[in-house]
Amino acid sequence: MEKEQLIEIDESINAWLTTLDDIIPKLISDMVTTTKENMFDLVTNVDKAIQQNFELFLKEHYPSHQLFAEEKSNREVNAKEGHVWIMDPIDGTTNLVKQQEDYCIILGYFIEGEPVLSYIYDYPHGQLYKAVRGFGAYVNGQPLSSPEDIELKDAIISYNSLVINDETIQDLNDASFGYRCIGSCGLDSIRVIKGQFGAHVNTNPKPWDIAAQFLFASELGLKMTTLNNTKLDFSTGGPFIISNQACHASMLEILNSGNGYNK
Ligand code: NAP
Ligand code: CA
Ligand code: CA
Repeated sequence: MEKEQLIEIDESINAWLTTLDDIIPKLISDMVTTTKENMFDLVTNVDKAIQQNFELFLKEHYPSHQLFAEEKSNREVNAKEGHVWIMDPIDGTTNLVKQQEDYCIILGYFIEGEPVLSYIYDYPHGQLYKAVRGFGAYVNGQPLSSPEDIELKDAIISYNSLVINDETIQDLNDASFGYRCIGSCGLDSIRVIKGQFGAHVNTNPKPWDIAAQFLFASELGLKMTTLNNTKLDFSTGGPFIISNQACHASMLEILNSGNGYNK
């Protein structure tokens, strides 16, 4: 795609994201929460309205583009063909419901299976993270630089402690500097992208949880792989790590030692 076209799309997405600033406060004040597969699997009117709003935006401005998103059936979409937007309308819904903080909107734009534009919008803190293929990554328009190397012994690492077995957690604790988890795959990944965390692991993300991170990782020289150190398929998701170069190998070694990381 021509650079001018990419800039035009980026500007139009930025304008759409800005419209959310007027919509989200009202959606939150009228918040209605329902459950999906179990009592901890939450969805709100905020998730649904943001996704519907983006779907309408695409229909109006880019009718040939397809949407692959959490709160819809994606049966008709082949994520690896044509122009596809992968969206998590709210990543960190539990945080939205319980804390009204630490949630974000994730958007990844793929052309023929290649990521070209990515956004992670930390709405509560007014921080818009963006990556543009070939042109780097930014926060609120300011360039982000590649993180310095962080070895595991010096790194804060993040993962969901409910899904990893006690022995592996103990080994990770022993080998790292510390543990923190924000509870939003997008925002935990942003900590790695900014060089604050060494690594973030999610053992079962869906495409929308990780859609934006591919481009941030490639533009900033981070590692983003499966937990077997193979290429991650953006269209299916699956066990994933986004990591600083200097602690990726040690993280995977611990996760895969003994009987593995699963409970
Ligand atoms: P949570 O606060 O509900 O979610 C934390 C983050 O994980 C958010 O980015 C969330 O995305 C995502 N997430 C939600 N359900 C997930 C799932 N089944 N697998 C992978 N990622 C998921 O997390 P929680 O309250 O600690 O856990 C809620 C449930 O999700 C539990 O059953 C937990 O085991 C599971 N979970 C699993 C992992 C994993 O690494 N396998 C990670 C997190 C949560 P949304 O806000 O868009 O839903
Ligand atoms: Ca999510
Ligand atoms: Ca979500």
